Amino acid sequence: MHRTLRKYFGYDTFRPLQEDIIKDVIAGKDVFVLMPTGGGKSICYQLPALLMNGVTVVVSPLISLMKDQVDTLRANGVEAAYLNSTLSYKESNQIKQELENNIIKLLYVAPERLTLSSTLTLLDRIKVNLFAIDESHCISEWGHDFRPEYRKLSILKRKYPHIPIIALTATATPKVRKDTISQLHIEDCNTYVASFNRKNLLYQVRPKKETYEQIVEFLRKRKDKSGIIYCQSRKTVDELTGKLRKSGFNALPYHAGLSDAARSRNQDIFIKDDAEIIVATIAFGMGIDKPNVRFVIHYDLPRNLESYYQETGRGGRDGLECECILFFSRGDKYKIDYFIDQIAKSEEREAARLKLKEVMDYCQSTICRRKMLLRYFGEELQEENCGGCDVCLQPVKITDATEEAKLLIRCVKEVSQRYGITHVTEILTGSNSKKITEKGHHRLSSYGTGTYLPKDRWADIARELAHQGILRLEGSRYPLLKLDKDSEQVIAGKRTVEMIQLASSNDSLLALG
Ligand code: ADP
Ligand code: ZN
Repeated sequence: MHRTLRKYFGYDTFRPLQEDIIKDVIAGKDVFVLMPTGGGKSICYQLPALLMNGVTVVVSPLISLMKDQVDTLRANGVEAAYLNSTLSYKESNQIKQELENNIIKLLYVAPERLTLSSTLTLLDRIKVNLFAIDESHCISEWGHDFRPEYRKLSILKRKYPHIPIIALTATATPKVRKDTISQLHIEDCNTYVASFNRKNLLYQVRPKKETYEQIVEFLRKRKDKSGIIYCQSRKTVDELTGKLRKSGFNALPYHAGLSDAARSRNQDIFIKDDAEIIVATIAFGMGIDKPNVRFVIHYDLPRNLESYYQETGRGGRDGLECECILFFSRGDKYKIDYFIDQIAKSEEREAARLKLKEVMDYCQSTICRRKMLLRYFGEELQEENCGGCDVCLQPVKITDATEEAKLLIRCVKEVSQRYGITHVTEILTGSNSKKITEKGHHRLSSYGTGTYLPKDRWADIARELAHQGILRLEGSRYPLLKLDKDSEQVIAGKRTVEMIQLASSNDSLLALG
C-alpha cells in the first residue's frame, strides 16, 4: 500500500483514516466515508483500484470534474477513463474495448449513464471490483443537493450483491448519512467520519450595515489576497462587481446568467491568480480546487448552515488561514421567508424554515461559531474557546432592550396592529411624513417617544422581537406588525428582552488571534 501511495500519488504517509478505509475496501467491505472537502477522499478508492483485479467504477456527478480527475490520474500513469456524452462514438467504443481487455483500472461515469441498460450490460461482461459513489449525499432528498438520477443507484446492491460499495461525501448531516446508507442498501457498512473542524478557517459575523464600506476597508487591508464574495442574486453580483471595479479592485462576476464561456473564463482567471476577487452566486464552487483562498465573504444571509459550511470550506485549502465573514441582517431573513412561502410542498417548506432558523441562531448566538457549525454535523467541539471565531476572540455584547420593546409594543397596540415596520418606526421617531400626518398619527401618545435611536435601529429591534416571539410579522410582501404570545409579559414587566450586538470593527481576527 505504501509503495503504491508513493509511486502513483507521490505521498509518503496516509492522512487520518485513509489507511483503515483502504484496508476495508480491499477486504471487500462496504464503506461509508464522511470527510470534509480536501480531506483526501479520492485516494480511498483510487489506491485500492490499483491493487485489485478488474475495474473500479467511480460515480461522479459532474462531467467537468470527471475529466480533471481522469487527466490527473493518467498523468500519474494510472489507466483511467470516463464514459460520458462528450465522447464520440469511436472514443467510447475504444474505451469499451479497453475495459473488456482488462486494461482500464478506473472508470468514471455519471449516475444516469451507469444505470442505462447498455452500461449495465457492459458491466456484466467485465470484472467490476468496486463501486465508488462520490458526492453520495446527492441520493438523499434530505440533503441540499438531491439529484433524482442518484436514486437509481439503489439497484447496484440488488443487482450486484457481491460487489462492494464505497460511498463518499463531504456533506452529510446525521439524517442524510442514514438515508444515504439505506438508499444504497449498505446497512452493514463500516462508517468512517473525519473531523469537520477546519482549524484554519476563522469565522466572523458582522452587522450588515454600511456593508460596502466595510468590504472595501477589509479588501484594502488585504491587497493581493484572493477571495470569494458570495451574494444571493445575480443582480447583486453584477452591482457589487461593478462597484468594486470602479473602486480599483480586480473583481470578476460569476453566476448562471453569464454564458458558459464567460463563466469558465472568469473562473480560470481567478484560479490562476490573475484576478483577486470573484463575486459569485452559489453557482460558483463545486469542484473548485484553488488552494490559496484567503477570505470568503457572505454578503447575504445563506439559506442553511450546510451550504455555509461548504462555501466557506473553499477557503484555506492549503492549510493557511482564511477569514470567513458573514454579513447579517434580520431584513435578509424576511426576503428568504418570502421565497420559502412560495414552496408548494408543505413538508419542504417547513424543512426550509427550520434550516433558516438554524442560520439565524448561528448568527445571533453567544456560543462559539465553530461549535455551532460542528454541532450541525453531529460533532461536539471539545475546546471551550476555539481561538478562531468572533465569539471566542471578541465576545459579543448583550444589550437590554426591554424599554425599546415596550415602546414598540405600545405603538403596535395604538395603531391596532394594522401597520408594518416602516410606519411604526416613523411614529416612534417622530417623522413628519405625509402618511403619518394624514392618518393623524402625530397625535398618538407613542409619537416621538423613540427619537433617541435612529429609525433603522428600531426596525432592527422590531425584527429581533419578531424572532423572539414578542412581536409577530404577518404577511409576506408587506408584513404587518402584530402582537405575539409574549407581548403582554413584556408590558407587564414579567419578561426582559436581550439582544446581541455584533461588533462591526474591522479588526482582523487574525490580529486578535
Ligand atoms: P476530497 O476528495 O476529500 O475533497 P482529495 O482527494 O481531492 O480530497 O484530496 C485533497 C488534496 O489532498 C489533494 O491535493 C490530494 O492530492 C491531497 N492528499 C490526499 N491524500 C494525501 C496524503 N496521504 N498525503 C498528502 N496529500 C494528500
Ligand atoms: Zn469559537
